[in-house]
Amino acid sequence: MFIQFAQLAKRSRFIKPVMNPKPSQSYLEKVKDKGIETDDRKLLVLDLNGTLLSRPLKDRSHSSVSSASSNAVPRPGVKNFLKYAFTNYSVMVYSSSRRNNVEAMLNCIMNPEQVKSLTACWTRESMGLSTAHFNTKVQTFKNLDAIWENLHQDRDGQAVNWCQYNTVIIDDSEVKCAAHPFNHIHVSDFAHSTVDFQKDFDLVCAIRYLKHLKNMSNVSNYISQHPFRVDHNLSQDENLKYLDQAFEEHNKNVSTA
Ligand SMILES: [Mg+2]
Repeated sequence: MFIQFAQLAKRSRFIKPVMNPKPSQSYLEKVKDKGIETDDRKLLVLDLNGTLLSRPLKDRSHSSVSSASSNAVPRPGVKNFLKYAFTNYSVMVYSSSRRNNVEAMLNCIMNPEQVKSLTACWTRESMGLSTAHFNTKVQTFKNLDAIWENLHQDRDGQAVNWCQYNTVIIDDSEVKCAAHPFNHIHVSDFAHSTVDFQKDFDLVCAIRYLKHLKNMSNVSNYISQHPFRVDHNLSQDENLKYLDQAFEEHNKNVSTA
């Protein structure tokens, strides 16, 4: 009987999922703040799978996930995206994959210099999951509060106060970023087997959006008013124009306020 129960408990449907987080009241209030006008440093939090790369998974076995992580397919534009990111932002990785798989994926898209330049690299081991959740495909969440409480250095090792004013997360999952929706650049899910590579320009658009955010004193305020958007029925240029127009409109409103 006990053995039977233990076997059942191993299945994800018997493991209670982690609660879906919602933005706190204080988070929502700070969205309206002016932010930090004296310090333009920004933190960019990178998701990997579905955002910057795609893994050719055969099944969910450890060996298949491990092999797929070492043979990940880079998303179109990832090289330029990372070049821009490392030049202009402090960059950290926040992935719900295990550390060894994260290291394998990083080697598929970053050069050793970039890996070394990461301000932090958080993996499944950093998510505070119970053993049962750690070993199961359970819904995970990217808790930016944990970053703000525990990470106090920029890319040069200088002290900094990372917070909702100066942190941006790029991730293909809306649910994982649900507690901090106005710090989130929500890109489409990149799946190498189904996506048209010629029409996947999310990362080109994300660079443009990051350029707009770079000088914002409160990124959450800007994102709340002008969320990142890519319309795949339009061309890359039309999408870039849309993002630029939003930026211009924002600046006009700020200067006339
Ligand atoms: Mg993802």
